[in-house]
Amino acid sequence: MLEIVPVPAFSDNYIWMVHDADSGETAVVDPGDAAPPLAEATRRGWTITQVWNTHWHPDHTGGNAAVKAATGAKVSGPAAETIGARDVALAEGDTLRIGSHDGRVIEIPGHTLGHIALVFEDDRIAFVGDTLFAMGCGRLFEGTAQQMHASLQRLVALPEETALYCGHEYTLANARFAAHAEPDNPAIAARLAEVEQMRAEGQVTLPTTVACERATNPFVRASDWQEFARLRAEKDSFR
Ligand code: FE
Ligand code: ZN
Repeated sequence: MLEIVPVPAFSDNYIWMVHDADSGETAVVDPGDAAPPLAEATRRGWTITQVWNTHWHPDHTGGNAAVKAATGAKVSGPAAETIGARDVALAEGDTLRIGSHDGRVIEIPGHTLGHIALVFEDDRIAFVGDTLFAMGCGRLFEGTAQQMHASLQRLVALPEETALYCGHEYTLANARFAAHAEPDNPAIAARLAEVEQMRAEGQVTLPTTVACERATNPFVRASDWQEFARLRAEKDSFR
C-alpha cells in the first residue's frame, strides 16, 4: 500500500508525498517549494528518493533543485517541457516505479502542451496535476479546447474507483460554477453542500474519484469539445 499525504504550499497548491513503507522510498509530486515537503519528510522520518513532475509551471517545479540538493532524489518530468533539475524525461507509455508499484505515463495536453499524468493502475491512483480538478479543470494556457477535452476524457476512462490527486484546492469555487452550469443536477448540489462544510472546517477536499467526477464535473460531462470550450470560457469570467 502506498501512503499518500497532502502538503499544502503557497495559497492553494498541494504537494503530494507518496510513501512506500515496504521499500522505504518516498516520492514528492510537483514540489513548487522545497521547504514544506522537506519538513514533512523530517517530521515523518521519511527519506525522499524521487521527485515527479506533471508540468513545467513554477508552482509545481520551483522546489525541484532544492529537494534534489537536500536528498539526492531522482527527478522525473515530462520530456516535452523544460523541467529544472530533471534526470529522467517521461513520455507516453513510460513507466515510473516506487518500490514494487508501477506508474504509467500518459500525455494529457491542454493546460500545458507537455502535461502528463502518472497512473498507478494496480493501486487505482493517478496524479493529474492541473489538468483535472475536483468539479473543474485547468485553464487552457498552451493547448486547445479539443486537446483538453480529449485529455479529460482519457482520465475519466480510468476505472471509476481510481483516486485522482490534483494540484490545487479549487473545489469550492469549482462546485459553485458547477451548480451554476448544471442547476438541476442533484449530485452537484449535494457535493457543493458537502464541500462548503469541508472547507469551513479547513479540510482537504482531495483526492476525488473518477466516478465522482463523472457525476459532478461539468467539464467532464460536456458532450463534445465545443460544449467544453463554451464552459471553459464561461468559467474564466465566472464570479
Ligand atoms: Fe499549472
Ligand atoms: Zn498549478
